[in-house]
Amino acid sequence: MARILVVEDEPALSICLANDLKLEGYEVEVAGDGETAIEKGRQPKFDLILLDVMLPRKDGFEVCRELRRAGVRTPIILLTARTQEAEKVLGLELGADDYVTKPFSPRELRARIKAALRRTAAVVPRTYQFGDVEVDFQRCQLRRRGKAVEVTPLELKLLEAFVCSRGRTLTRAQLLDQVWGPGTFITDRVVDNHITRLRQKIEAPPGEPRYLVSVRGIGDRFDG
Ligand code: CA
Repeated sequence: MARILVVEDEPALSICLANDLKLEGYEVEVAGDGETAIEKGRQPKFDLILLDVMLPRKDGFEVCRELRRAGVRTPIILLTARTQEAEKVLGLELGADDYVTKPFSPRELRARIKAALRRTAAVVPRTYQFGDVEVDFQRCQLRRRGKAVEVTPLELKLLEAFVCSRGRTLTRAQLLDQVWGPGTFITDRVVDNHITRLRQKIEAPPGEPRYLVSVRGIGDRFDG
């Protein structure tokens, strides 16, 4: 059953939320301020974070930004007050997955939670294994023959894109869109460099790739 971290400083609301979610069968933990939220949110055990915007110590936007910067990929749903229209937009740019405006109906919130959980379950596997490589996308870790290999969040995102489309050839343009985001102006050469570095970390020997293979004139394909 999915575990949800509820971040809300008003006890009446957090108790109400927690009870409602527990009745739905979720496991729930509560954090009452921004710093505790960051500390708990970094733990990989949570499948989703419900994050109030107005919080003591650090607000929800800061929490969201710091978690994403730390490589945490757990889906985040922001809870915003009705008047914070502009903040909602900002929140989505910070890496939140969705938002719900207060006051919300329990039914609406449940639907949003289900949708967010479904999206991540369908797209991003938590961990993936191929050959002697084990990758934990949520913890941002890659191990080869049991030993930790240093990877950048971008290399991991690249690998994730390949894993999610395994068996299909991805073009440079598709990778740019999926990994860097649409409208990013970088050259194909930059994408190539990242792929080369990723190969060095997952292939043995890197010059004869077995998992991340080049498809001449088209792009690259992951066969793991
Ligand atoms: Ca609050």
